[in-house]
Amino acid sequence: MQITSSELGLAARVEHLSKAYGNGEGAVRALDDVSLGIRRGEFTAIMGPSGSGKSTLMHIMAGLDAPTAGRVWVGDAEIGRMHDAELTILRRRRVGFVFQSFNLVPTLDIKGNILLPFDLDGRRPSIRERSRIDALIESLGLEQRLTHRPHELSGGQQQRVAIARALATAPDLIFADEPTGNLDSRTGREVLELLGAACRDHGQSITMVTHDPIAASYADRVVFLADGRVAADKPRQSAAELSAHMLAAEGVAA
Ligand code: ADP
Ligand code: MG
Repeated sequence: MQITSSELGLAARVEHLSKAYGNGEGAVRALDDVSLGIRRGEFTAIMGPSGSGKSTLMHIMAGLDAPTAGRVWVGDAEIGRMHDAELTILRRRRVGFVFQSFNLVPTLDIKGNILLPFDLDGRRPSIRERSRIDALIESLGLEQRLTHRPHELSGGQQQRVAIARALATAPDLIFADEPTGNLDSRTGREVLELLGAACRDHGQSITMVTHDPIAASYADRVVFLADGRVAADKPRQSAAELSAHMLAAEGVAA
């Protein structure tokens, strides 16, 4: 009998994960034998140079893309063994995802985008959920934008909508790909505080890709990827320490 993720205190995990894009001569190996567990209630940052496989890892962990080899669990459920319909429901109910490119629905207004996870799940937010969503909208400064369409918003505003949408259902597991990439430093800090509070106060597990040492310094744990492999796995670090580590890693890669 294999030990379950819950017994290990993990909210998600991958084992011996590999991902290749294309075949033969032109194949790109985006991930190469990655094994990683995301601990429950922890804020984990994934850092690494551009092209090191960060987005690919997040997409596969969230069940949005299939690996070439290896196994993936969300909680105790192994994704590779699920039917598409089961996987869709698991993703809707348990996982929030902030995409690097936002992925907002252009034909829906901001309110519609934030409430989309509920619509897809065929339900309306409860009174408690409504008050949480209102608080999110307020802390992300989106009150005046609710009836606008995504194209009417700046990149930073769209990013905040994507964050509100991912947090709206309070999923156990949140994956955020460069969530502060388009934000000014003050808004970025507010988003990081929000993500930190989701872990601390609500026991949610957050995995955030970032190349910003200041953003990563908010995390309880920092995993470094290089060339599709886990190069280091460290407890909370200061921005200065993370920055030194990134510079050293990029120096080796160059
Ligand atoms: P990161 O997010 O760390 O910048 P990615 O996971 O996006 O890295 O990409 C890892 C590698 O896989 C890169 O070499 C990238 O060019 C390649 N890659 C990513 N997506 C695709 C794709 N859809 N088709 C072909 N190659 C891809
Ligand atoms: Mg990326």
